[in-house]
Amino acid sequence: MPKLSMKQRYSVLTRDLDWEPSYVDEEELFPHATFEGIKIHDWSKWEDPFRLTVDSYYKYQAEKDRRLYAVLDSFAQSQGHLSLSDASYLNAMKLFLQGVTPLEYQAHRHFAYLGRHLKGGGPRFAAICQSIDELRHAQTEIHTLSGYNKHYSGFHGFSRMHDRVWYLSVPKSFFDDAVSAGPFEFLTAISFSFEYLLTNLLFVPFMSGASFNGDLPTMTFGFSAQSDESRHMTLGLESIKFMLEQDEGNVPIVQDWIDKWFWRSYRVTALVASMMDYQLPRRVMSWKEAFELYFEQQMLEGLFPDLSYYGINPPRHVQQAVDEKDLLSHQVYWTLFSFGFAAGFTTSIPHDDHLEWLSANYPDTFDNLYRPQWEKARRIREGGGRFFFQGLPQLCQTCQIPMIFTEPGSPTVIAQRWSEHRGEKFNFCSDGCKWIFDREPEKYVQAWMPVHQIYQGNCGGPTVPEVLAWYGLEEGDGGEYEGSVDQRNWQHWHEAQLSEVASR
Ligand code: FE
Ligand code: ZN
Repeated sequence: MPKLSMKQRYSVLTRDLDWEPSYVDEEELFPHATFEGIKIHDWSKWEDPFRLTVDSYYKYQAEKDRRLYAVLDSFAQSQGHLSLSDASYLNAMKLFLQGVTPLEYQAHRHFAYLGRHLKGGGPRFAAICQSIDELRHAQTEIHTLSGYNKHYSGFHGFSRMHDRVWYLSVPKSFFDDAVSAGPFEFLTAISFSFEYLLTNLLFVPFMSGASFNGDLPTMTFGFSAQSDESRHMTLGLESIKFMLEQDEGNVPIVQDWIDKWFWRSYRVTALVASMMDYQLPRRVMSWKEAFELYFEQQMLEGLFPDLSYYGINPPRHVQQAVDEKDLLSHQVYWTLFSFGFAAGFTTSIPHDDHLEWLSANYPDTFDNLYRPQWEKARRIREGGGRFFFQGLPQLCQTCQIPMIFTEPGSPTVIAQRWSEHRGEKFNFCSDGCKWIFDREPEKYVQAWMPVHQIYQGNCGGPTVPEVLAWYGLEEGDGGEYEGSVDQRNWQHWHEAQLSEVASR
């Protein structure tokens, strides 16, 4: 037999392993392939973006793992955590472990489902590869950050926190929404709207934040995941184009999903915005800058003009996201600061140089809208107190973020929308979230709303200490950073280090 070309070999080892069923009909074999209304006429038209066979995939990933674990070992052995910029940097990583890592695991499970239920051999193989990637991401993130769990608070019990703590219901409910959709909607939600449109906004700031702040393990994990991420983005774009090319009737369905999932995904990135502008002791770039670069330039001006060829428009509520870029991080971090007694990370008032940085990066909004809040918080601290919000906030029924966002064009007026469904009233933070609810009210009335659950007595009891115990939070996990367990340990370890150097 003549030697096969790369392309033939790839084909033989992947999609050619597919077969036509002979004794069950297609409907029975693929029961979830048609109910969403997406019509596929020829699955063989699917372009494989990967060209990766199973053996080369494993070889490649194993090599990356070897490098990562070598870095983790040497960092642990040399007490590398002491060379971080500051212990408060780890708050960003606590948020990542609690909020993002469990989503990687959910993605692993759901891509395995796609690997079973998509009808074509090409996309099934792509989904299987991504399923394995996501499992590896969950594992390597946990291993990477477990090194800090030995010395710092907030890293233990992250999966319990993910299931229970109020701000983590934002990412959790987002992914629950996606995995309870059909296979094509999931591809549009996660592979396209989340991974293609917004992954650079999520991933790049966390990973460059890690490198700027001396977190070598997380940076190495980031590099190791980045090459997978580019495959995932390709899958996202490929699946959208495939649906659009297969049948004209798919266009309005896909447009609707893009409209929904852009807004859902964008609301989740609100946590990233506050992380970038407030949680990094050494900041990489502002949220506004990142949003302009990775979203407005690359997606809105770069990608969507190409998609208009298929009849696809930019996401329905995109202008509001653009208009919010000067406000978002400040509104979110102030909320985390105000409810910080019930969080799995600590918060604090930005130092003077940090306030200056915020003014310089947000010249139109920071000094007149947000600096006064921080000055007030500082006066309270100087009087021996700490500003914490008393009471529980109203939540948006769709994104589950407290109602903290403001009316378009009026940054001091809280936005509030509502809909009535079967005689009950539901509240929303924005036009985007209301629109999503109104499309599928039966889905969103079932949402597990953290504040409602507390009031209904389902979260350990009626008092704050009972709820915190039910969350699994321990002394030092949340609250104020200044004077916290982590801050005192950090100071103690560095003083010890200095006196050791002096005595040599
Ligand atoms: Fe991942
Ligand atoms: Zn909302």
